[in-house]
Amino acid sequence: MITLRGLTKRFGGTTAVDDLTVDIAPGRVTGFLGPNGAGKSTTMRMVLGLDRPTAGEALVDGRPYRALRHPLHEVGALLDATGIHPARSGRAHLRAMARSNGIPPRRVDEVLGLAGLDGRAADKPGRSLSLGMAQRLGIAGALLGDPPVLLFDEPVNGLDPDGVRWIRRLTRALAAEGRTVLVSSHLMSEMEQTADQLIVIGRGRLIADAPVAELIAAS
Ligand code: ADP
Ligand code: ADP
Repeated sequence: MITLRGLTKRFGGTTAVDDLTVDIAPGRVTGFLGPNGAGKSTTMRMVLGLDRPTAGEALVDGRPYRALRHPLHEVGALLDATGIHPARSGRAHLRAMARSNGIPPRRVDEVLGLAGLDGRAADKPGRSLSLGMAQRLGIAGALLGDPPVLLFDEPVNGLDPDGVRWIRRLTRALAAEGRTVLVSSHLMSEMEQTADQLIVIGRGRLIADAPVAELIAAS
């Protein structure tokens, strides 16, 4: 469960996230819809403790990120995939992540499999990764600690049609396992394919929080 309470972030004169209060429940895919610049990434970054709220709070199972004892086992995220291009190979990058979090090395091969990356792709150095490959590697990293809460920021970006179908299936499967899954997109058409519940924001403010079917019927 993710809880946002009066969550607000200002960058100088820009209010990126404006008094957002919402619960994101387990067992379903929650879509996070809004145009570019609406505040989706900033919201996710605050859940992950990467940006500090100006006001309000973002909680994972009732606690702020900094209070989580085993963060990788509690919340996993795919953020801007350009940020995860490792200097090392994908596999080495994940091995290092696993090692520093007490996760057994065999889990690296498990998550590479879950992300649809074969050995050769995983052994390529980061600079030569396609965006689609970087997205898959980011998702493998998010799954490493088998966390009950997952945040995917624009996961279909850069994926080919097979990749898009794969990520839709994966997000649905993760929610069916009872996990809390928050997936952002700027495209309603994408949300219709994946999400059960939809949170819509514009200029950092909550516009709607309703089942996708209800929002489609109303449009
Ligand atoms: P989205 O993910 O919905 O595209 P963002 O959260 O990236 O939106 O951005 C929300 C707003 O905050 C935008 O106006 C963006 O320019 C601004 N913003 C985001 N990060 C920063 C930052 N580090 N410094 C200044 N402004 C920022
Ligand atoms: P087994 O159940 O025999 O251990 P699985 O392949 O089902 O084998 O699971 C291996 C590990 O991967 C387990 O820790 C499981 O919780 C985790 N796991 C399985 N499916 C997923 C998934 N879709 N996303 C993240 N982790 C998963």
